[in-house]
Amino acid sequence: AKVLITGANGYLATWVVKMYLDAGYSVRGTVRSQSKSAFSKEKFAHYGDRLELVTVKDITKDGAFDEVIGGVDVIVHMASPFHFKAATPDELITPAVRGTTSILSTALKQGSTLKRFILTSSAVAILEFPWRQRVFTEENWNSAALEAVKTKGPAAGPLNIYLASKTLAERAAWEFVDVHKSEISWDLVVLNPPYIFGPSLSAAPTVDDINTSQREVYDTLVGVRTGKQLQTQAHWVHVTVAAEAHVRAAHAVGAGGQRIIVRSASMYYQEILDAAAELGIPNVPRGEPGSMKDVPYGSVLESTKAEELLGLTQVTPLKDVVAESVEDFKARGYA
Ligand code: NDP
Repeated sequence: AKVLITGANGYLATWVVKMYLDAGYSVRGTVRSQSKSAFSKEKFAHYGDRLELVTVKDITKDGAFDEVIGGVDVIVHMASPFHFKAATPDELITPAVRGTTSILSTALKQGSTLKRFILTSSAVAILEFPWRQRVFTEENWNSAALEAVKTKGPAAGPLNIYLASKTLAERAAWEFVDVHKSEISWDLVVLNPPYIFGPSLSAAPTVDDINTSQREVYDTLVGVRTGKQLQTQAHWVHVTVAAEAHVRAAHAVGAGGQRIIVRSASMYYQEILDAAAELGIPNVPRGEPGSMKDVPYGSVLESTKAEELLGLTQVTPLKDVVAESVEDFKARGYA
């Protein structure tokens, strides 16, 4: 069987590529330029011609994917900008939404062999601020970020712009599938992971090249986060669990038509520092050790579907992912 994975050089995507290859699939990955494919080509050379990396320069163009969909059984669409630096909503919303509708349009026209379309959405399409005392499930949609971007435009800020880009892209996918349901023979599965942590397999020669979620861990360990920021809560998932979800989603019976939260646990940023202290990692700030240990989490991200539909039960302790991340940062020579 053959899978198409967009944004194949990214942090999560590189794991997903590897896991599909290990599961016996042929993988066609898209990258924005051939220079972006060099690292994976070398790393995955032993898989031979089961891995093919092709260029799709601009995912927002109509027909951008016309040459790459032929013969695939599964599409995993995850190319989408993930950063908190956008100056305007369009900067993120256009590639997120148009990238999604562009590949869906091609799937509609050319997807004669396609069985399943998997979209990498995010927990941010579900969670919304304020988080206090709220339980979020797949029933929830982030409307606060959309409202902020609609009413304030660029002044909504880069975080809201990212949250809105993921929410709007996912919404566009469900709408597309609904409008065309009588014409398509494949189904849509949406995965909604929160922050993804853990080691990287992709090219990231300097700290500035690492992806946004790994950077959260790095910044915490080097003391960029202080005071109240360390008391902030986040939800996270181990990168191998998130990647495995993308492979299982290809054939999981009952997953079609579902959005699925894929999570490991919640944490306060202080707990990253506590884990580092417990691991004896040198030169890491302490914050206020243990101060968040018994503080109940303000929001709960709850999913039974990942276990029911994908059979995912693995829960990684935060301490382990911190240890793995530190190892990875060290091996890459980051200061
Ligand atoms: P990375 O930044 O490592 O990878 C993003 C990928 O998308 C890269 O291949 C990148 O290409 C491509 N991309 C970015 N902007 C554009 C654009 N304008 N046009 C075409 N391609 C683009 O991110 P992650 O691996 O962390 O994220 C992958 C996906 O998972 C994203 O959809 C993200 O929203 C989602 N996600 C990530 C989470 C996380 O914590 N990491 C959590 C939940 C969801 P290039 O290298 O050329 O820039």
